[in-house]
Amino acid sequence: MRPIQARISIDAMAHNFRVARSHSGAARVFAVVKANAYGHGLSRARRAFSAADGFAVLTLEEAANLRLMGVEQPIMLLEGIFGPDEIPICAELDLSPVLHHAAQLDWLMQHPPVRPIQVFLKFDSGMHRLGFPLVDHEAIVARVRSLPGVAGITLMTHFAQADEVAGVSWQLQPFLNALAGHGLPWSSANSAALLRYPETQGMWTRPGIMLYGASPYVDQSAAELGLRPSMTLQSEIIGVQMLEAGEGAGYGLLFRAEKKMRVGVVACGYADGYPRHALTGTPVLVNGQRSRTLGRVSMDMLCVDLSVAPEAGVGAPVVLWGEGLPVDAVAAAAGTNSYELLCALAARVPVTEES
Ligand SMILES: *Cc1c(COP(=O)(O)O)cnc(C)c1O
Repeated sequence: MRPIQARISIDAMAHNFRVARSHSGAARVFAVVKANAYGHGLSRARRAFSAADGFAVLTLEEAANLRLMGVEQPIMLLEGIFGPDEIPICAELDLSPVLHHAAQLDWLMQHPPVRPIQVFLKFDSGMHRLGFPLVDHEAIVARVRSLPGVAGITLMTHFAQADEVAGVSWQLQPFLNALAGHGLPWSSANSAALLRYPETQGMWTRPGIMLYGASPYVDQSAAELGLRPSMTLQSEIIGVQMLEAGEGAGYGLLFRAEKKMRVGVVACGYADGYPRHALTGTPVLVNGQRSRTLGRVSMDMLCVDLSVAPEAGVGAPVVLWGEGLPVDAVAAAAGTNSYELLCALAARVPVTEES
């Protein structure tokens, strides 16, 4: 069998959830499990985060799967409904959609759910992605209050720079100022906001990436935040090559040996979810030793430097990210973030689960 696998630790996920809980104060916690729980699997996320007060997903299908698994907590649909046909399903499965554009209000008006539902009313406080303009809050809140199928409203916004120096207050203050008069509960915090700005807690927090053991910041590691890696992508060396000085390895011979050296070929490529953009020098563990990738990543293979592990031959274990090698370090070297690496884990990679 091809030696690649992803080891996913339910324990680490549960631990990370407790960290999110401890940073949430009295707020309730929505475990964000979109994108197949950031590549970790919805069913594993349900078990690991069973103490969550709710789950946040993108699609009706994910929500329906969670209900089938026995989830009784509130389920938030992060982008709300995509058409009026989804309203009856929200009622049937007791889902809480985000309302962020006027057509969604029209749909609810014209096709009220048979059972009233909870909604999250999203305002744009500066990110300019989803949400009603803050200046329209009086009219929008009044309109949603008047909808017959709406049982309760939670106000919501999302931060653009919670992980940067600019922070959250330039968005949070206008959001709270505008909405204070409505006397409604609110939700604003993603992982980056939650960990640094307790004033963003509100009624519900919405941690995602931190639950999966990665840091939302570039200047603070997951370990420093008390988080544990929950996905370890590992494989083995399946071939060894001796390169003479001047010889190259991989497509385009992008890497050239400066002196005689041993190169290991690892059973992991971009079709497994490893980033093709990772350049020579991306960190990798061979036999537990920190080494580096060499040259271009292929579809099913990549090359690594065996100079630091002279004993490593075919069968030597390789960690691409996870335990002993933070996914954030690999992401940084590949010019992306941990989110992209975790959710890109390919379906063909077998998963072993650890409690
Ligand atoms: C994905 C998402 C989150 C979680 O963000 P993280 O950075 O992963 O913590 C929170 N809120 C909304 C609206 C999201 O789409």
